[in-house]
Amino acid sequence: MIPLTTTICQDDCQDNCPENNPKSERWQTELARAYRDPEALLSALKLTPEQIPGGISPENPFPLRVPRHYAARMQPGDPNDPLLLQVLSRQLEQTDQPGFLLDPVGDGPATASPGLLHKYQGRVLLITTGACPVHCRYCFRRHYPYSDSRPSNGDWSKAMEYIAADTSISEVILSGGDPLSLSNERLKAISDELAKIPHIRRLRLHTRMPIVLPERVDTGFRDWLSSLPWQTIVVTHCNHANEIDEQVSNTLAELKANGATLLNQAVLLKGINDNVAALVDLSEALFKSGTLPYYLHLLDHVVGAAHFEVEEPVALDLMNGIRRQLPGYLVPKLVREVAGKPHKIPISDPD
Ligand SMILES: *Cc1c(COP(=O)(O)O)cnc(C)c1O
Ligand code: SF4
Repeated sequence: MIPLTTTICQDDCQDNCPENNPKSERWQTELARAYRDPEALLSALKLTPEQIPGGISPENPFPLRVPRHYAARMQPGDPNDPLLLQVLSRQLEQTDQPGFLLDPVGDGPATASPGLLHKYQGRVLLITTGACPVHCRYCFRRHYPYSDSRPSNGDWSKAMEYIAADTSISEVILSGGDPLSLSNERLKAISDELAKIPHIRRLRLHTRMPIVLPERVDTGFRDWLSSLPWQTIVVTHCNHANEIDEQVSNTLAELKANGATLLNQAVLLKGINDNVAALVDLSEALFKSGTLPYYLHLLDHVVGAAHFEVEEPVALDLMNGIRRQLPGYLVPKLVREVAGKPHKIPISDPD
Protein backbone atom coordinates (compact mmCIF):
# COMPACT_ATOMS: atom_id res chain seq x y z
CA MET A 1 0.00 0.00 0.00
CA ILE A 2 1.27 3.44 -0.87
CA PRO A 3 1.58 5.68 2.16
CA LEU A 4 -0.49 8.81 1.72
CA THR A 5 0.52 11.84 3.70
CA THR A 6 -2.08 14.17 2.32
CA THR A 7 -4.95 15.83 4.07
CA ILE A 8 -6.23 17.64 1.02
CA CYS A 9 -8.20 14.92 -0.70
CA GLN A 10 -11.42 16.18 -2.21
CA ASP A 11 -14.36 13.86 -2.66
CA ASP A 12 -13.48 12.73 -6.19
CA CYS A 13 -9.94 12.27 -5.05
CA GLN A 14 -11.28 9.92 -2.33
CA ASP A 15 -12.81 7.80 -5.08
CA ASN A 16 -9.44 7.49 -6.69
CA CYS A 17 -7.51 6.84 -3.54
CA PRO A 18 -5.91 3.39 -3.52
CA GLU A 19 -6.39 3.31 0.25
CA ASN A 20 -10.16 3.53 -0.17
CA ASN A 21 -10.41 1.52 -3.31
CA PRO A 22 -8.57 -1.78 -3.40
CA LYS A 23 -9.41 -2.20 -7.08
CA SER A 24 -7.85 1.13 -8.05
CA GLU A 25 -6.54 1.52 -11.55
CA ARG A 26 -2.91 2.14 -12.40
CA TRP A 27 -3.52 5.84 -13.06
CA GLN A 28 -5.12 6.22 -9.65
CA THR A 29 -2.05 4.72 -8.03
CA GLU A 30 0.10 7.11 -10.07
CA LEU A 31 -2.01 10.04 -8.92
CA ALA A 32 -1.68 8.98 -5.29
CA ARG A 33 2.12 8.92 -5.71
CA ALA A 34 2.18 12.54 -6.93
CA TYR A 35 4.54 14.92 -5.14
CA ARG A 36 2.76 16.98 -2.50
CA ASP A 37 5.79 18.39 -0.74
CA PRO A 38 7.83 21.06 -2.55
CA GLU A 39 11.02 20.03 -0.78
CA ALA A 40 10.65 16.42 -1.95
CA LEU A 41 10.10 17.59 -5.52
CA LEU A 42 13.12 19.89 -5.38
CA SER A 43 15.27 17.20 -3.85
CA ALA A 44 14.35 14.80 -6.68
CA LEU A 45 15.51 17.53 -9.06
CA LYS A 46 18.76 18.03 -7.13
CA LEU A 47 17.70 21.53 -6.13
CA THR A 48 17.43 23.26 -2.77
CA PRO A 49 14.74 25.77 -1.70
CA GLU A 50 17.47 28.44 -1.47
CA GLN A 51 17.99 28.17 -5.23
CA ILE A 52 14.39 29.14 -5.97
CA PRO A 53 14.06 32.88 -6.60
CA GLY A 54 11.91 34.32 -3.81
CA GLY A 55 11.70 30.97 -1.98
CA ILE A 56 9.06 28.24 -1.79
CA SER A 57 5.76 28.18 0.03
CA PRO A 58 5.20 24.79 1.68
CA GLU A 59 2.08 25.80 3.66
CA ASN A 60 -0.09 26.91 0.78
CA PRO A 61 -3.92 26.89 0.77
CA PHE A 62 -3.64 25.66 -2.86
CA PRO A 63 -1.06 22.99 -2.12
CA LEU A 64 1.54 21.60 -4.46
CA ARG A 65 0.54 18.57 -6.51
CA VAL A 66 2.80 17.17 -9.24
CA PRO A 67 2.58 13.69 -10.79
CA ARG A 68 5.94 11.93 -10.90
CA HIS A 69 5.69 11.31 -14.61
CA TYR A 70 5.39 15.06 -15.15
CA ALA A 71 8.28 15.83 -12.79
CA ALA A 72 10.42 13.37 -14.75
CA ARG A 73 10.24 15.74 -17.72
CA MET A 74 11.87 18.56 -15.74
CA GLN A 75 15.57 19.27 -16.10
CA PRO A 76 17.41 18.33 -12.87
CA GLY A 77 19.46 21.20 -11.48
CA ASP A 78 17.53 23.95 -13.30
CA PRO A 79 15.64 26.23 -10.90
CA ASN A 80 14.05 27.98 -13.90
CA ASP A 81 12.77 24.85 -15.59
CA PRO A 82 9.58 25.85 -17.47
CA LEU A 83 7.63 22.87 -16.15
CA LEU A 84 8.81 23.30 -12.57
CA LEU A 85 7.80 26.97 -12.46
CA GLN A 86 4.25 26.13 -13.59
CA VAL A 87 3.66 23.93 -10.57
CA LEU A 88 6.01 24.92 -7.75
CA SER A 89 4.28 26.79 -4.92
CA ARG A 90 6.39 29.86 -4.39
CA GLN A 91 6.44 32.65 -1.84
CA LEU A 92 5.68 35.12 -4.67
CA GLU A 93 2.07 33.92 -4.64
CA GLN A 94 1.50 35.55 -1.29
CA THR A 95 2.18 39.05 -2.67
CA ASP A 96 -0.97 41.14 -2.94
CA GLN A 97 -1.56 42.69 -6.35
CA PRO A 98 -4.23 45.30 -6.94
CA GLY A 99 -6.70 44.23 -9.65
CA PHE A 100 -6.13 40.50 -9.10
CA LEU A 101 -9.40 38.89 -7.99
CA LEU A 102 -10.77 35.64 -6.57
CA ASP A 103 -13.19 35.07 -9.48
CA PRO A 104 -11.59 37.01 -12.36
CA VAL A 105 -13.63 35.48 -15.17
CA GLY A 106 -17.10 35.94 -13.66
CA ASP A 107 -17.96 32.25 -13.26
CA GLY A 108 -20.18 33.03 -10.26
CA PRO A 109 -22.75 35.12 -12.18
CA ALA A 110 -22.71 32.67 -15.15
CA THR A 111 -23.84 29.75 -12.99
CA ALA A 112 -27.16 28.60 -14.44
CA SER A 113 -27.61 25.65 -12.09
CA PRO A 114 -25.21 24.02 -9.59
CA GLY A 115 -22.09 22.99 -11.53
CA LEU A 116 -23.33 24.36 -14.86
CA LEU A 117 -21.97 27.53 -16.47
CA HIS A 118 -23.86 29.02 -19.39
CA LYS A 119 -21.86 31.98 -20.65
CA TYR A 120 -21.82 31.52 -24.40
CA GLN A 121 -24.50 30.85 -26.99
CA GLY A 122 -24.94 27.16 -27.79
CA ARG A 123 -22.38 25.85 -25.29
CA VAL A 124 -22.62 24.96 -21.63
CA LEU A 125 -19.78 23.96 -19.34
CA LEU A 126 -20.14 21.40 -16.57
CA ILE A 127 -17.84 21.77 -13.56
CA THR A 128 -17.71 18.01 -13.10
CA THR A 129 -15.17 17.94 -10.29
CA GLY A 130 -12.82 20.16 -8.30
CA ALA A 131 -9.99 17.65 -8.46
CA CYS A 132 -6.96 18.07 -10.72
CA PRO A 133 -3.96 15.82 -11.24
CA VAL A 134 -1.68 18.84 -10.99
CA HIS A 135 -2.05 22.22 -9.33
CA CYS A 136 -1.07 24.87 -11.86
CA ARG A 137 -0.05 27.95 -9.97
CA TYR A 138 -1.68 30.37 -12.43
CA CYS A 139 -5.05 28.58 -12.45
CA PHE A 140 -8.02 30.95 -12.62
CA ARG A 141 -10.09 28.46 -10.65
CA ARG A 142 -7.56 28.20 -7.82
CA HIS A 143 -10.02 29.92 -5.47
CA TYR A 144 -13.18 28.47 -6.97
CA PRO A 145 -15.64 27.33 -4.32
CA TYR A 146 -16.04 23.85 -5.85
CA SER A 147 -17.70 22.22 -2.91
CA ASP A 148 -20.46 24.87 -2.79
CA SER A 149 -21.14 24.91 -6.49
CA ARG A 150 -21.31 21.31 -7.59
CA PRO A 151 -24.35 19.11 -7.26
CA SER A 152 -24.04 16.87 -4.25
CA ASN A 153 -23.74 13.07 -4.73
CA GLY A 154 -23.04 13.47 -8.44
CA ASP A 155 -26.72 14.32 -8.97
CA TRP A 156 -26.74 16.11 -12.30
CA SER A 157 -30.54 16.06 -12.75
CA LYS A 158 -30.95 19.86 -12.37
CA ALA A 159 -28.21 20.53 -14.90
CA MET A 160 -29.71 17.95 -17.29
CA GLU A 161 -33.14 19.56 -16.97
CA TYR A 162 -31.61 22.94 -17.81
CA ILE A 163 -29.85 21.58 -20.92
CA ALA A 164 -32.92 19.61 -22.02
CA ALA A 165 -35.09 22.74 -21.75
CA ASP A 166 -32.85 24.89 -23.97
CA THR A 167 -32.72 23.57 -27.53
CA SER A 168 -30.15 26.19 -28.51
CA ILE A 169 -27.52 24.20 -26.58
CA SER A 170 -25.69 21.93 -29.03
CA GLU A 171 -22.39 21.44 -27.24
CA VAL A 172 -21.60 20.32 -23.72
CA ILE A 173 -18.13 20.89 -22.29
CA LEU A 174 -16.93 18.71 -19.44
CA SER A 175 -14.52 20.76 -17.39
CA GLY A 176 -13.55 21.14 -13.75
CA GLY A 177 -11.05 20.83 -12.18
CA ASP A 178 -10.14 18.10 -14.59
CA PRO A 179 -13.05 15.94 -15.79
CA LEU A 180 -10.67 13.03 -16.26
CA SER A 181 -10.23 12.99 -12.48
CA LEU A 182 -13.61 11.26 -12.52
CA SER A 183 -13.63 7.48 -12.86
CA ASN A 184 -14.72 5.98 -16.18
CA GLU A 185 -17.97 4.92 -14.46
CA ARG A 186 -18.76 8.49 -13.42
CA LEU A 187 -18.01 9.80 -16.90
CA LYS A 188 -20.33 7.19 -18.34
CA ALA A 189 -23.08 8.13 -15.90
CA ILE A 190 -22.87 11.74 -17.13
CA SER A 191 -22.76 10.84 -20.81
CA ASP A 192 -25.69 8.43 -20.39
CA GLU A 193 -27.78 11.31 -19.04
CA LEU A 194 -26.67 13.63 -21.83
CA ALA A 195 -27.49 11.00 -24.44
CA LYS A 196 -31.17 11.39 -23.56
CA ILE A 197 -31.10 15.00 -24.80
CA PRO A 198 -31.65 15.03 -28.56
CA HIS A 199 -30.32 18.50 -29.41
CA ILE A 200 -26.75 17.82 -28.21
CA ARG A 201 -24.40 17.33 -31.15
CA ARG A 202 -20.93 17.66 -29.66
CA LEU A 203 -19.17 16.73 -26.44
CA ARG A 204 -15.99 18.53 -25.52
CA LEU A 205 -13.50 17.64 -22.78
CA HIS A 206 -11.17 20.26 -21.34
CA THR A 207 -8.36 18.34 -19.72
CA ARG A 208 -4.72 18.50 -18.73
CA MET A 209 -4.64 14.79 -17.86
CA PRO A 210 -3.22 13.44 -21.18
CA ILE A 211 -0.30 15.84 -20.67
CA VAL A 212 0.40 15.46 -16.95
CA LEU A 213 -0.80 11.90 -16.25
CA PRO A 214 -1.10 10.08 -19.60
CA GLU A 215 -1.78 6.79 -17.78
CA ARG A 216 -5.28 8.16 -17.27
CA VAL A 217 -6.17 7.43 -20.89
CA ASP A 218 -6.67 3.75 -20.16
CA THR A 219 -8.61 1.09 -22.04
CA GLY A 220 -11.82 1.88 -20.18
CA PHE A 221 -11.54 5.54 -21.03
CA ARG A 222 -10.79 4.87 -24.69
CA ASP A 223 -13.76 2.52 -24.91
CA TRP A 224 -15.98 5.19 -23.34
CA LEU A 225 -14.72 7.85 -25.75
CA SER A 226 -15.27 5.76 -28.85
CA SER A 227 -18.76 4.75 -27.66
CA LEU A 228 -20.10 8.31 -27.46
CA PRO A 229 -22.89 9.16 -29.89
CA TRP A 230 -21.55 12.67 -30.69
CA GLN A 231 -18.60 14.29 -32.36
CA THR A 232 -15.99 14.62 -29.65
CA ILE A 233 -13.33 17.26 -29.09
CA VAL A 234 -10.53 16.97 -26.57
CA VAL A 235 -8.98 20.31 -25.69
CA THR A 236 -5.70 19.58 -23.94
CA HIS A 237 -3.85 22.14 -21.87
CA CYS A 238 -0.15 22.19 -22.63
CA ASN A 239 2.07 25.26 -22.26
CA HIS A 240 5.51 24.07 -23.27
CA ALA A 241 7.01 21.61 -25.77
CA ASN A 242 8.94 19.88 -22.95
CA GLU A 243 5.58 18.69 -21.59
CA ILE A 244 5.21 16.35 -24.58
CA ASP A 245 7.33 13.22 -24.34
CA GLU A 246 6.85 9.96 -26.19
CA GLN A 247 4.21 8.61 -23.82
CA VAL A 248 2.19 11.82 -24.05
CA SER A 249 2.51 11.80 -27.81
CA ASN A 250 1.30 8.19 -28.00
CA THR A 251 -1.60 9.05 -25.71
CA LEU A 252 -2.68 11.91 -27.94
CA ALA A 253 -2.52 9.55 -30.93
CA GLU A 254 -4.79 7.12 -29.07
CA LEU A 255 -7.34 9.85 -28.35
CA LYS A 256 -7.36 10.69 -32.02
CA ALA A 257 -7.67 7.04 -33.03
CA ASN A 258 -10.78 6.88 -30.84
CA GLY A 259 -12.46 9.64 -32.75
CA ALA A 260 -11.56 12.85 -30.93
CA THR A 261 -10.59 16.08 -32.65
CA LEU A 262 -7.57 17.35 -30.74
CA LEU A 263 -7.05 21.01 -29.90
CA ASN A 264 -4.79 22.64 -27.33
CA GLN A 265 -5.11 25.69 -25.18
CA ALA A 266 -2.10 27.30 -23.55
CA VAL A 267 -1.65 30.19 -21.18
CA LEU A 268 1.01 32.79 -21.96
CA LEU A 269 3.21 32.74 -18.85
CA LYS A 270 6.11 34.96 -17.96
CA GLY A 271 9.36 33.04 -17.60
CA ILE A 272 7.80 29.87 -19.04
CA ASN A 273 6.73 30.33 -22.66
CA ASP A 274 6.98 34.08 -23.26
CA ASN A 275 9.43 33.89 -26.14
CA VAL A 276 9.01 33.20 -29.85
CA ALA A 277 11.15 30.06 -29.86
CA ALA A 278 9.16 28.43 -27.02
CA LEU A 279 5.82 29.18 -28.69
CA VAL A 280 6.99 27.94 -32.11
CA ASP A 281 8.34 24.75 -30.54
CA LEU A 282 5.07 24.23 -28.70
CA SER A 283 2.98 24.50 -31.87
CA GLU A 284 5.35 22.19 -33.75
CA ALA A 285 5.38 19.60 -30.95
CA LEU A 286 1.59 19.67 -30.68
CA PHE A 287 1.08 19.20 -34.39
CA LYS A 288 3.58 16.36 -34.50
CA SER A 289 1.23 14.65 -32.02
CA GLY A 290 -1.88 15.38 -34.06
CA THR A 291 -3.06 18.41 -32.07
CA LEU A 292 -3.83 21.89 -33.38
CA PRO A 293 -3.15 24.98 -31.28
CA TYR A 294 -6.48 26.60 -30.43
CA TYR A 295 -6.17 29.39 -27.88
CA LEU A 296 -3.27 31.19 -26.30
CA HIS A 297 -4.80 32.80 -23.23
CA LEU A 298 -3.60 35.94 -21.59
CA LEU A 299 -3.36 35.33 -17.87
CA ASP A 300 -6.56 35.65 -15.91
CA HIS A 301 -6.07 38.12 -13.10
CA VAL A 302 -6.49 35.71 -10.24
CA VAL A 303 -5.09 36.39 -6.77
CA GLY A 304 -1.65 34.77 -6.39
CA ALA A 305 -0.69 34.66 -10.08
CA ALA A 306 0.49 38.22 -10.81
CA HIS A 307 4.11 37.14 -11.29
CA PHE A 308 3.08 35.19 -14.44
CA GLU A 309 1.62 38.26 -16.17
CA VAL A 310 2.76 39.05 -19.74
CA GLU A 311 1.58 42.51 -20.80
CA GLU A 312 -0.62 42.79 -23.88
CA PRO A 313 1.87 44.69 -26.12
CA VAL A 314 4.51 42.05 -25.39
CA ALA A 315 2.01 39.31 -26.21
CA LEU A 316 1.17 40.98 -29.54
CA ASP A 317 4.87 41.20 -30.45
CA LEU A 318 5.23 37.49 -29.70
CA MET A 319 2.23 36.72 -31.91
CA ASN A 320 3.79 38.66 -34.78
CA GLY A 321 7.01 36.75 -34.20
CA ILE A 322 5.40 33.31 -34.40
CA ARG A 323 3.25 34.32 -37.38
CA ARG A 324 6.45 34.96 -39.32
CA GLN A 325 7.65 31.42 -38.69
CA LEU A 326 4.60 29.17 -38.74
CA PRO A 327 1.84 28.21 -41.15
CA GLY A 328 -1.41 29.91 -40.22
CA TYR A 329 -2.96 26.72 -38.83
CA LEU A 330 -0.22 26.49 -36.21
CA VAL A 331 -0.80 30.02 -34.89
CA PRO A 332 -3.14 29.96 -31.88
CA LYS A 333 -5.69 32.72 -31.30
CA LEU A 334 -4.55 35.14 -28.63
CA VAL A 335 -7.53 35.73 -26.33
CA ARG A 336 -8.52 37.13 -23.00
CA GLU A 337 -11.54 36.12 -21.00
CA VAL A 338 -13.51 39.14 -19.86
CA ALA A 339 -16.28 38.63 -17.30
CA GLY A 340 -19.74 39.23 -18.76
CA LYS A 341 -18.73 39.15 -22.47
CA PRO A 342 -20.51 36.79 -24.91
CA HIS A 343 -17.28 35.14 -26.13
CA LYS A 344 -13.56 35.12 -25.39
CA ILE A 345 -12.06 38.39 -26.54
CA PRO A 346 -9.52 38.17 -29.38
CA ILE A 347 -6.50 40.43 -28.87
CA SER A 348 -5.17 41.98 -32.06
CA ASP A 349 -2.85 44.77 -33.15
CA PRO A 350 -4.41 48.22 -32.98
CA ASP A 351 -5.16 49.45 -36.53
C1 LIG B 1 -14.16 29.09 -22.53
C2 LIG B 1 -15.53 28.70 -22.21
C3 LIG B 1 -16.34 28.05 -23.14
C4 LIG B 1 -15.84 27.66 -24.51
O1 LIG B 1 -15.56 28.73 -25.31
P1 LIG B 1 -15.06 28.46 -26.80
O2 LIG B 1 -14.71 29.82 -27.30
O3 LIG B 1 -16.16 27.81 -27.53
O4 LIG B 1 -13.86 27.55 -26.69
C5 LIG B 1 -17.64 27.76 -22.80
N1 LIG B 1 -18.15 28.09 -21.58
C6 LIG B 1 -17.40 28.71 -20.67
C7 LIG B 1 -18.03 29.06 -19.36
C8 LIG B 1 -16.07 29.04 -20.94
O5 LIG B 1 -15.33 29.64 -19.99
S1 SF4 C 1 -5.34 21.40 -14.57
FE1 SF4 C 1 -6.56 23.20 -15.24
S2 SF4 C 1 -8.16 23.45 -13.67
FE2 SF4 C 1 -6.55 22.12 -12.81
S3 SF4 C 1 -5.13 23.48 -11.70
FE3 SF4 C 1 -4.33 23.24 -13.80
S4 SF4 C 1 -5.21 24.96 -14.95
FE4 SF4 C 1 -6.43 24.72 -13.07
